[in-house]
Amino acid sequence: MSEPSESTGDKFQNPVAGFGVTFKAMFKKRLTEQYPEQQKVTAPRFHGRHQLNRHPDGLEKCVGCELCAWACPADAIYVEGADNTDEERYSPGERYGRVYQINYARCILCGLCIEACPTRALTMTNEFELANTTRESLIYTKDELLAGLEEGMVDTPHAIFPGMDEQDYYRGLVTEAAPGTERQVAVSKGESKEQAAKDEEVDA
Ligand code: SF4
Ligand code: SF4
Repeated sequence: MSEPSESTGDKFQNPVAGFGVTFKAMFKKRLTEQYPEQQKVTAPRFHGRHQLNRHPDGLEKCVGCELCAWACPADAIYVEGADNTDEERYSPGERYGRVYQINYARCILCGLCIEACPTRALTMTNEFELANTTRESLIYTKDELLAGLEEGMVDTPHAIFPGMDEQDYYRGLVTEAAPGTERQVAVSKGESKEQAAKDEEVDA
């Protein structure tokens, strides 16, 4: 059966209706964004680049358990855990994340990994400028993902706060690095005890 042919009235009205849509749009508020000159403000819970967080004394929250990697639907996370030792400690507990990588060529920023993390070591920031020109540069390593040092923190490795255990860190009982932690780190890096003490006096 053949299709009914368009009437003469339709032939005239259809293009006019189409131009009507164009005409209405000409008077609507423009949505053009002047990015990157004007940065877009994201919603507070926006899913951006990940961050590996620290405890208030600078020790790392990641325990290298790999739960984030198992939860990831895009297979974008690679973790290798290792044991802490008394000489080289990165987190308050038994294990820490020795290798940590997120491949942003795969990541879909869904947030399942941060839901899976038992220690709140992994969270997401509001940073969204992740585009790059090579695949290698889209693989973020632990150095790039680890949070910076805030006031009261000392960079790892260093000892656990004296008299505290891992649970105390999660109870919020450790609020800053123990006195002398900077000196301890300097000595472990080969500086003499006397020089480290002098440096600490100058910094104080
Ligand atoms: S945000 Fe989603 S896709 Fe990206 S690493 Fe986490 S779980 Fe994987
Ligand atoms: S980020 Fe969290 S879930 Fe992932 S390895 Fe570290 S502690 Fe485990």
